[in-house]
Amino acid sequence: MIEVLQGDIPKLQVDAIVNAANKTLLGGGGVDGAIHRAAGAKLREACRLLGGCPTGEAKITPGFQLPAKWVIHTVGPVWRGGAQGEARLLAACYRHAFELGLAHGVNTIAFPSISTGAYGYPKNAAAGIAVRLMREYDARFERIIACCFTEEDVSIYESVLHGTKVPSREK
Ligand code: ADP
Repeated sequence: MIEVLQGDIPKLQVDAIVNAANKTLLGGGGVDGAIHRAAGAKLREACRLLGGCPTGEAKITPGFQLPAKWVIHTVGPVWRGGAQGEARLLAACYRHAFELGLAHGVNTIAFPSISTGAYGYPKNAAAGIAVRLMREYDARFERIIACCFTEEDVSIYESVLHGTKVPSREK
């Protein structure tokens, strides 16, 4: 089942939360910073041992102090206008996160809107890719959560899921 909710992803009681990390995996701003603050210093140490992660791939650590058992770290593409393989790389993030989850017995998984913060990916297009991959994996998970930070993101995901169009702020 695919659910859209508004909230703070580190607080979710799920088997795995997905982190929109950067290639160093050493922590950053946005959702990455929030996850590291909530999980505690052991998460940074576990990430350091992973030695980074290429764009479009994913790596897994325990959740440490989080309610979630696992954190799946993936590195979204930086938006550079759309002709630099961004869509393929963003889809790869979701696919690799789902596959890692399946390999670790994850039944419930929550995603932030990868790449749509500091990395500048247009929100409607990113939600379209997220929902496409969520549908592809829906049958293999009990719950797939799109954890939105803002009300605007909730309405974007709802409209993509239900096939309605929201007025776009993107030009
Ligand atoms: P990226 O570098 O991949 O763009 P960001 O963390 O800057 O990553 O933003 C990714 C998305 O995460 C954005 O939609 C942002 O609003 C959202 N976000 C930021 N903090 C949180 C949080 N605590 N829980 C869920 N989503 C968050």
